[in-house]
Amino acid sequence: MTPQSGPDESQTAALLRAVDGLRDEMTAELQELVSIPSVNPKYPGIEYDEHVGFEGQATARLAQLYERAGARVDIFAVESGRENAIGTLGTGDGPSLVYNGHVDVVPEGDPATWTIAPPFSGELRGERMYGRGTADQKSGLVAQAFAGLALHRAGIRLAGSLQLQCVVGEETGDHACGSGAVADRGYLGDAVVVSEPSAPPTPLSIAPIGPGLLWFSVTVTGKKAHSALRGATIHSTRAGEVHGVNAIDKAFLVYQGLRALEQEWAQTQRHPMWANGHFALLPGAIRGGPGTLTVPFSLSDSATIEYAVQYHPDREGSEVQAEIQAAIDRAADADPWLRVNRPVCEWKLDWEPFATDKGADISQQLADSYRSATVGTGFPADVAWTGFYGVCDATVFTRRGIPSVVFGPGDLHNAHTEDEWVDLDEVWLAARTYALLAARWCGIRK
Ligand SMILES: [Zn+2]
Repeated sequence: MTPQSGPDESQTAALLRAVDGLRDEMTAELQELVSIPSVNPKYPGIEYDEHVGFEGQATARLAQLYERAGARVDIFAVESGRENAIGTLGTGDGPSLVYNGHVDVVPEGDPATWTIAPPFSGELRGERMYGRGTADQKSGLVAQAFAGLALHRAGIRLAGSLQLQCVVGEETGDHACGSGAVADRGYLGDAVVVSEPSAPPTPLSIAPIGPGLLWFSVTVTGKKAHSALRGATIHSTRAGEVHGVNAIDKAFLVYQGLRALEQEWAQTQRHPMWANGHFALLPGAIRGGPGTLTVPFSLSDSATIEYAVQYHPDREGSEVQAEIQAAIDRAADADPWLRVNRPVCEWKLDWEPFATDKGADISQQLADSYRSATVGTGFPADVAWTGFYGVCDATVFTRRGIPSVVFGPGDLHNAHTEDEWVDLDEVWLAARTYALLAARWCGIRK
């Protein structure tokens, strides 16, 4: 990697003018993209056959944009209908940069719960566009693609190379289908910017670090009995657990144990990039009942709680898993039934943290480009640094030793929920920033 000279003043001005001139087209393209319901077909509770193929359709639109930007485009799929696209601009041996974003979205849920506009409408209300995937994270993908188009329109030829990556499968951590497959195909670079929504705390924060994520379920068993025996089974002076055990009650013992651990984490698991108490154990889904029945006329013989755990980026997933298992064991040891009938954990996912130094070249050049891009936009020039609020594909690249940061339009506060929206001014500012960063990082071919 040799130092390159970046754009001069007139090239910078031409580049930003090109982004500004493409703004309406960028909005229209985002709307088209949102209208493709590219729900991740492997999302739990989703019928694969009904949903597979839409990711590929959305990727095809991105690939067309890459082609229009003059990129060499590679489209490939690990699973048919789930295509990834990589568009490469520039051919030189200067510094290389990867812009990565995912085209899959989470399910929209019940459309009736969307109060402002239908989930895949991309409807505009003032400066906001509504719809599933607007924030997470089709706006980021489109802004990165339009940065490429602006470079092309401004006649800027990069000394290094810029890769525009559109990947599938992110929402289920399906790296084998998406970013991992892209990286394994050799699409790597000197640095990566992932365009996930990087607010909060402020729009277009820079997140050079992200937490780890564990997903697991814990199941406890009970013993079925008529509901009228409840009193007899729970009071120690009566027959007790000989007659029946309500698994739902036992699940709450486990819940309390993990809630105590979470409370402890608020004290012990602190990091300057996040608010205290950020690392947490979310009991996000619970099911239980007498067999398959969902009526309360028997004691429940089984109960399961599903947990999503965000853990401190300095820790190993295996170590966190052992700590959680120990907390569950302590809860079980304190109860006569659970001492014998042990809770059973199923560990489903460990998504490793990612971390890049705030002082790393990519972090600092991104911050500088952001500052330059804000000039005349009304946005504050001060950039906010934050720990990323979710997990993302930056992990795929840092695991391969490539410095990676998250920076993109949208706010995680309204991602994965009804009435998801993105502010179009943010999308525009993100595109300005991406365009400037690419020109500066990769350098200009004379
Ligand atoms: Zn996302």
